[in-house]
Amino acid sequence: MKTAGTLLHGVAAAAGVGFGPAREIARDPVPAARRVASADVAAEIALLRDAARSASMELRTMARAVRADGHADEAAIFVAHAAIAADPAIIDGAVAEIQARGVDAATAIVAATSAAAAQIEGLSDELLRARAADVRDVGDRIARTLVGVVEAELLPEPAVIVGEDLAPSLAATLPRERLLGIALEGSSATAHAAILARAYGIPAVVGVAGLLAAVRAAGPAVHVAIDGSSGEVIVDPDPVSRDRFRDRMASAESARRRDVDDAGLAPETLDGLAITLLANIGTPAEAGTAAALGARGVGLFRTEFLFLERPSPPSEDEQVDAYRQAVEAFGGNPVTIRLLDVGGDKPIPYLALPPEDNPFLGVRALRLAGDRPELFLTQLRAAYRAAASGPVKVMAPMVADASDVATLLELVAEARVGLDHDSVPRGEISIGVMVEIPSAVLAADSFLGEVAFASLGTNDLLQYTIAADRGNAALRRYHDPLHPALLRLVRLSVEAADRAGIELSVCGEMAGDPIAALALVGLGVRQLSMTPSSLGPVRRAIRSADASVLERLALAALTDASAEGVRARFAAVAVSADSARRGS
Ligand code: PEP
Ligand code: MG
Repeated sequence: MKTAGTLLHGVAAAAGVGFGPAREIARDPVPAARRVASADVAAEIALLRDAARSASMELRTMARAVRADGHADEAAIFVAHAAIAADPAIIDGAVAEIQARGVDAATAIVAATSAAAAQIEGLSDELLRARAADVRDVGDRIARTLVGVVEAELLPEPAVIVGEDLAPSLAATLPRERLLGIALEGSSATAHAAILARAYGIPAVVGVAGLLAAVRAAGPAVHVAIDGSSGEVIVDPDPVSRDRFRDRMASAESARRRDVDDAGLAPETLDGLAITLLANIGTPAEAGTAAALGARGVGLFRTEFLFLERPSPPSEDEQVDAYRQAVEAFGGNPVTIRLLDVGGDKPIPYLALPPEDNPFLGVRALRLAGDRPELFLTQLRAAYRAAASGPVKVMAPMVADASDVATLLELVAEARVGLDHDSVPRGEISIGVMVEIPSAVLAADSFLGEVAFASLGTNDLLQYTIAADRGNAALRRYHDPLHPALLRLVRLSVEAADRAGIELSVCGEMAGDPIAALALVGLGVRQLSMTPSSLGPVRRAIRSADASVLERLALAALTDASAEGVRARFAAVAVSADSARRGS
């Protein structure tokens, strides 16, 4: 008789319910256990050649599909990959490995492509050096074909992705229509894979201990059900559980419809305090959905997604197109473009940044401006040009102090003077900073007067305040932004922004959590920017609460001992307001 399956719990990372066959995406593309060489060298070489041929064909098909989708630049990446897969020098290198060492074909192709990549990495031309990552990628792809590990980029059938972690670039490129859900054994709700999942409306649960062992034990055709709101994951669910999940899928769909219906309702507390709800987006295509869900502009456009999965940075013209598209979708409401925030968990191969021991504490984001000013100047020029079509704001990530603000303002002036010198038509942009490093909160008075607005990046602010890597599932107990230490920093920021007479918003993930959003309103925040799917739930939470009650609770929360205590205070308001609304 069939059992009820294995019930596991993780962190709810992106709302929605998903059900379907599990597809494992391995971090190591070729698990050692699956690399078994046959005794017959000729047979192993034949396997290698077949796999390389089919990988090359797959890559050409992928390039055609990507081009047909209107992404000609990305298609070029796959054309280049197809050529690498068919490169006789690389295949001969792998054949020599099999002949000399008797290894299996997968091990041989990984060794041959790694050796070729290492040579390329030694070249002085930066663009050529960046190709090393492509060569390794193709080697991994051929190896995956050989050992039968799923092709992440292709995702041939609709499936729930399971894995240890998911690279942001993969999360950005997997075919969305086939991505039924994401369940990860590691990661966290603020990792970029999770942020993308929320942006695209893909249900996701992360930090699911025991997930991979359960999936592997259940065999190849196992189905997985995930609930991205409760954090529940069932591996190999029985028919009763499947039906339960199908019901949940139906109610998630009706909640989505309700969010659209409610989009026109003012986000105002019962006692009349108006809050501005904005959207966080990663691609211009999301702006339309955000506007339809009632966002009054974009509070955070994470531009680094424009820089992923390509051989070189997007040109100024391409960026103007992307920013303009978002501006036009909002018809008069402002779009806040965040300057490139790379490093940390968002590496970009062609920038060839040297490896660092602590990338989250390293040369990331605005700190790159010293060596790579052109990256930021191009973005600023594009922002100025897009501003000719509607209101544009630009903010710099990872600002630590007044000297970083001075760097930002110099770049802004240089971009503006350059455009005017070339007589390029432009609009005006308003300049702001992200406050996401504790020093920026504590020294805010020294620079907030120089800018027009500030936005609190509570994801990073929490990780730097509590010294807990936001992507490390083992540190989950430190990941709740309702920690009183973070609330105090929010309060200090609100006071500093008031003194400087500038607007302050919150664009970290906490703004999209209805309970945390109530705490932020209680602390004095009046603008909240969030993933579009959170707009409906946050709007309803605000409309059902009293600002005077929230202020009182927030004051008390500042001296609470734990995030759980704070959460309990605000959850009680949210629940009582919810039942009052249902009773009315
Ligand atoms: C943040 O740190 O809160 C933020 C909004 O930026 P990101 O999550 O992209 O680092
Ligand atoms: Mg950040």
